[in-house]
Amino acid sequence: MPKAGNFYIEDIKLYHSKKSFFTFVHNILNINYYGAMKKIFILLVLTFQLNILAGGKPYLILVSFDAFRWDYMERGLTPNLDKFASEGVNSLSLEPCFPSKTFPNHMSIITGMYPQNHGIIHNTIYNRFTEKTYKMSDSNEVRDPRWYLGEPFWETAERQGITTASYFWPGSEMKLDYRRPTYFLPYDHDCPEDKKIAGIIDWLSLPESQRPHFITVYFHETDDDGHNFGPNSPEINRSIVKLDSIAGLLLSSLSKLPIKDSINVVFLSDHGMTEISKERQINIGKILDGLKAKLFDSGPVMMISPSGSSVDSLYDRLKKNEINYQVYKREEVPANLHFSENPFIAEIVVIADMGWTLVQNNKREYYSDSKGNHGYDNHHLDMNGFFIANGPAFKSNYQTGTIRNIDIYPMLCKIFNIFPKSNIDGKLERIEQILK
Ligand code: AMP
Ligand code: ZN
Ligand code: ZN
Repeated sequence: MPKAGNFYIEDIKLYHSKKSFFTFVHNILNINYYGAMKKIFILLVLTFQLNILAGGKPYLILVSFDAFRWDYMERGLTPNLDKFASEGVNSLSLEPCFPSKTFPNHMSIITGMYPQNHGIIHNTIYNRFTEKTYKMSDSNEVRDPRWYLGEPFWETAERQGITTASYFWPGSEMKLDYRRPTYFLPYDHDCPEDKKIAGIIDWLSLPESQRPHFITVYFHETDDDGHNFGPNSPEINRSIVKLDSIAGLLLSSLSKLPIKDSINVVFLSDHGMTEISKERQINIGKILDGLKAKLFDSGPVMMISPSGSSVDSLYDRLKKNEINYQVYKREEVPANLHFSENPFIAEIVVIADMGWTLVQNNKREYYSDSKGNHGYDNHHLDMNGFFIANGPAFKSNYQTGTIRNIDIYPMLCKIFNIFPKSNIDGKLERIEQILK
């Protein structure tokens, strides 16, 4: 706009049209009425814009239902989740990473990285250099930041000015202030579900300067009952009903908040569940009889390191007996499992076929009584979880195909308009179709 002295042309025209009035005011009050008006106007515009920015910062609640298989919503047991998904985004399924276990996948969701890259390659990890073992039941190890190589979303967000909170999530208790959410709690498996919801509502009722905008919460029911009774049992159906009513309680509580229209909610799971049985066990210790090796873990995945015998002799023996499982040397694990590139992956990786269980010996193990498990090849549909989302950032009435859990981190960064870490495996372009 062309300028004339201190005024724009339009200002001068306006001045002329109101000349007599302004001259009158100016003369009486002896003030630069125009200058004052302009300053007030600019201040008003700035205040308005700041309000938009503050009010416009989104909220997102990330809810994990452990082991809630992709098809549990098709059983006619989930009216609250059905309504939520049909009005927002409903995906066919959520593909986990390999191994389809709890800790690796919660970390993949929150970092956008494959387990081999974020470091939590299994629920139990053996560090051959320090001889320390990471176990989810060992709170000291779980809180040791040295195991975690990825940057969780809450760290990315806090660094860029967004307050975050967690009512449980693997990795949220790290003993390093800047790597964990502002608000977090030590994991308590017995924490009542309505207490978690009340905690979230309390956080969201804090004054804006203290209020978290990103909150994670975790519910374990479908995992417990899936293991104990199997994915096709009446007991798992009762858990599905329970989680649906928890979802209903959370959504109705959120809808009473003054900020309700700015809140996004994502319900998802870390993996699915498949039926297992005592009859389908493979005794790896027996197959390796006479050879010297260290066997790590049991279930769908077992890792083996030589302790006297050569890698080739162990591998050859397992290869000769390869029925109902696949054996690989670490560097030959199929590329689509992304499970070769971490020093804590042992020299040999054995992966059971769906429904089969690898055991170390004939001793009665945890698995003897289990009816369901997960951890298998993540591309199997039974290992897929679910993903549904609703809120101002998401499209309405939108159906999409299978989503990969590593793409959630870049999606969160996009929603909050912050910079993601550049070394992630997730890709925004594979998921952004679900955003408005
Ligand atoms: P899994 O089925 O073996 O992959 O692991 C499921 C178990 O992980 C649940 O039964 C929980 O007890 C445990 N778990 C989940 N989140 C946490 C956490 N943040 N800290 C410790 N343990 C957890
Ligand atoms: Zn799990
Ligand atoms: Zn489980």
